[in-house]
This record gives sequence, structure tokens and C-alpha cells, in this order.
Amino acid sequence: MAKEIDQKIKGKIESSERILIASHVRPDADAAGSLLGLGLGFIDAGKKVQMVLKDGVGKFRYLPKSDLITPLPKGPVDMVIVVDCSDPNRVGDILDGYDKPDLVVDHHKTNLEFGTFNVVEPEQVATAAILFDHMPSWGLSFTPEIATCLLSGIVGDTIGFRTSNVKSDVMRKAAALMDLGADLGNIYREELILKSFKEVHYWGCGLVRVERADGLVWTSLTLADREKVGYAGNDDADLVNVLSSVKEAEIALIFIEQPQNEVKVSWRARPGLDVSGIAFEFGGGGHAAAAGADISGNLEDVKQRVIIETKKLLEQQNQ
Ligand code: AMP
Ligand code: MN
Ligand code: MN
Repeated sequence: MAKEIDQKIKGKIESSERILIASHVRPDADAAGSLLGLGLGFIDAGKKVQMVLKDGVGKFRYLPKSDLITPLPKGPVDMVIVVDCSDPNRVGDILDGYDKPDLVVDHHKTNLEFGTFNVVEPEQVATAAILFDHMPSWGLSFTPEIATCLLSGIVGDTIGFRTSNVKSDVMRKAAALMDLGADLGNIYREELILKSFKEVHYWGCGLVRVERADGLVWTSLTLADREKVGYAGNDDADLVNVLSSVKEAEIALIFIEQPQNEVKVSWRARPGLDVSGIAFEFGGGGHAAAAGADISGNLEDVKQRVIIETKKLLEQQNQ
């Protein structure tokens, strides 16, 4: 029998005709895949659905029906859902005119439980994996398209099953999603292998100024870099995954300059370390092995402050 919370969520879904789903700014595969996987489930159940990402669909155009994702919500709705987001600010300002979310589905350790119902499972590798477990008990079924979206979320957040939180149950879920029609090879290629020339050129800007000290490796990406190579995103194009492969370092960081005197910081840590707390202290959040924050200040100042604090953290955690 489904848990009590699942029954209540199912009841809320049944009584809602218009459903709005949102996820975080600078979407990753888990944000886009969870949003779309759940949204397509609702559409199949006869609901009117809005799927909203403030920064648009970005590189996740390869997901089925991704053209349904919009940057702004419109009009009244009966139910608001936020997926893969630990705090309401990470959604951006798009939900400003709406009530508190009815449902939050997330796997971040730092989740503020800001919904009426909160399905927050930090032990799960991706929000998409949580949805795989719960959607049937909410009265929703899987199609090959939904399976593709959910498997993309899992592949994205585990960097292709490489993170240390991947246990055999994750592989079983992935296998079940493949049986439901998801094409793992294609997802892997689209999500993790293919890069545009501009992205690779942009990586180059960051790689020429890579630095290393005291167990950390870091670099930065500037607004000028993006202009120079013509990269339209405001993220790191996953360069942090390259930095976290540096053998000598225990924590990798990347500083991405943003407009209006802000810097996006990403931390990646070796198994056994936990960078979620430091990200949370800087106003962000995340997981033990991967966390981020948006910090006010100019690039050099933010870099200096964050590196000092991260070195301290590494010393403490290595004691
Ligand atoms: P990123 O470094 O952006 O790839 O994110 C790593 C992890 O930290 C992801 O699970 C993000 O959802 C989370 N994260 C990144 N930035 C923030 C932020 N500003 N606030 C809360 N969580 C964040
Ligand atoms: Mn995410
Ligand atoms: Mn996620």
C-alpha cells in the first residue's frame, strides 16, 4: 500500500486540473528530465500542464517534447510543484505570483522543505530516481518518453553512474527504465559526451588559468570568456567535471562570473568529504560530493573568500 503522504499527493493531483511544475535556474539534466518526465505523466493523465524553467530548456532539447518547456508561467493553476530544488530562490522569480508549492520533490541534503508536501530523499542519486519510485503511487504511468526523461536525470546527476552514491539499486532502476523504452546509449551521448565547438573553446578559457594548492584545484570563467567564444549559457558547460578528474586534488572548484556582480561557485569533492555545508553557508546548497552557491561580489574577492574557507574545511575534514 502506498504511504499516507503518497495517498494525499494522489488526492491533490486528482482534484487538480491545471498543474504548474518548475525547477531550478541553470537547469541540469535532473531538473529538465524530472520536470518533463513528471509533466508528460500528467499530460497522459489528462491534466493541463505548464512546465517552466526560468532559463529555458538550454541543452536539453534532446529530451522528448522538450519544446513544451516555457520560461514563464501563465494564469492561475490548481497545483504548484517544484522538482530538484532545495530552496524557493533557486527557481528564480517565476513563481512570485503563486502560492507556496503544494509539492516539492527533491534529493538535496540542504532542502528547506518549502512545500505543503515534501518528498525529499537525500539518499537518492537524482530527483528523477525519486519520481520513478513515486509516480505509480500518484496514479501516473510510464511511457518510453517519460522513461527517457527520468533516465537522463539519473545519468546526469551520477555523471554516467560514476558518483560514489551509485549502488546496485540505481543500476536496477536504470535497467527498468531501459526496459520501459529509454535508450541509454543515446542519453549518454547527448548528456555526457557531445560538446559543441564553442563549449570546448570555452573550456579552454578556463583550463589555461587552472590553479592548484593545498588539495584544491580551481579555475574561473568570465563574462569576457563567454563573449569571446560566443557561448550563450551562463554556466560552466560542465568544465567542473574535468577539474574533478585532477588526481592531486581532493576538492575542485569553479568560479563562473555572472552579470550584476555575482559569481556562481561549484564545489566537487572526493568521496568521504562533504561540501554541502560550506555551500549552504555561502547561501547555496547541494550534496556531500557536489554543491553550489550564487555569491554576491566581484570574481577575485569571491574566489579569495571561498578558497580560504574551502581550505579550512578540507583541513578540518581530513583531521
Ligand atoms: P552545480 O555546481 O551547479 O552543478 O550544482 C551542484 C549541486 O548543488 C546540484 O545538486 C545543485 O542543485 C546544487 N546547487 C548549485 N547551486 C546551488 C544554489 N545556489 N543553491 C542551492 N543549491 C545549489
Ligand atoms: Mn539539479
Ligand atoms: Mn538533482
